[in-house]
Amino acid sequence: MGDERVNLLGLPRTELEAFVAARLGAKPFRARQLMKWIYRRGAADFSTMSDLSQDFRAQLGEVARIAVPEIVEAQVSGDGTRKWLLRMDQTQGIETVYIPEPDRGTLCISSQVGCAMDCTFCSTAQQGFNRNLSVAEIVGQVWLAHRELGRGELSQQSGRSAITNIVFMGMGEPLANYRNVVPAMRIFLDDLGYDLSRRRVTLSTSGLVPQIYKLAEECNVALAVSLHAPNDELRNELVPINRKHPIDELLAACWHYLDAQNGRSITFEYVMLDGVNDAPAHARQLARLLKGRAAKLNLIPFNVFPGTRYRRSPAAAIVKFRDILNEHGVIATIRRTRGDDIDAACGQLAGRVIDRTSVRLGSRLSAPAPVTPGQMPAQVR
Ligand code: SAH
Repeated sequence: MGDERVNLLGLPRTELEAFVAARLGAKPFRARQLMKWIYRRGAADFSTMSDLSQDFRAQLGEVARIAVPEIVEAQVSGDGTRKWLLRMDQTQGIETVYIPEPDRGTLCISSQVGCAMDCTFCSTAQQGFNRNLSVAEIVGQVWLAHRELGRGELSQQSGRSAITNIVFMGMGEPLANYRNVVPAMRIFLDDLGYDLSRRRVTLSTSGLVPQIYKLAEECNVALAVSLHAPNDELRNELVPINRKHPIDELLAACWHYLDAQNGRSITFEYVMLDGVNDAPAHARQLARLLKGRAAKLNLIPFNVFPGTRYRRSPAAAIVKFRDILNEHGVIATIRRTRGDDIDAACGQLAGRVIDRTSVRLGSRLSAPAPVTPGQMPAQVR
């Protein structure tokens, strides 16, 4: 039988206040105490919450629980990057990656089991899609990493948390799970949650335009956009969602996002694929798109995975690409590859996914108009 008790992990502050009032007749400050225990102190057991009365803790245990994900496998890279495979149900798992740097610690989290966006150069896409993660499963990744890193060097030295930044750059398309991703981000920003500034929480998207407009109104975080190509013809091939929301629409949404939020800049990610999108002409075309805009380009050397048809651009080509952009007044940096010895680098996260999609997005969006009865289905490219 399933556990009927409410999982408090990931409940937004107002909902937690309403819950303790309705179920336990408690004042709102009880909710605030609970949040401090769950997020700051990493508690998962009501019995350790020493500033709550014995009675209150016992009552809580009857109606609520703090259910956290379970680690199936933990790996540490030679460069200190860590990767956890977390159990989501009987058969499936997602991956979370921690990247330590001298001045910060970035946690790269997943938003879905698999991904339905079908980008041709991404390992997660090859797994297909199963389902969205719940708010608790998203927040649970941070909760767990906090626990695992609790005795980390950074936190010992500085006394602050090992996690200074959170990025939605793991498995999944976060804007396709808008309903759960936004409340999770609120916990990351809440001063009784993980208390991160809005510049330190980054949502990375392949370009779901309507949701970018929605997010602009509802939640204030940094935005990264997976561009990967300077024209629609090429982007249609690499990032199939472009066939629905082409580059000019996407960029208009990005500039609106910055205006609406008074943001500093948008980061555009650009994976460097040998002989595909890495020619000097592509760099010049890209510069024309972004010149004069509050944009930064992050060039990501392609990370290989089994079965891929792509190769990483040679280092010299990547440097040249960056230099052309910089000469044209567009800020571009090359992302250092981290954790590739444990398959923890961008685009390498695979987890364990049972694909439930019947038709891949790439095929669906290039399919002709629906067939009328009696007609044979047209061949899908
Ligand atoms: N769905 C979100 C998050 C994806 S992962 C998005 O599309 O933005 C974060 C970044 O890694 C994205 O920019 C993605 O395009 C990039 N990426 C995917 N596969 C990659 C690979 N094999 N090598 C390098 N970067 C990759």
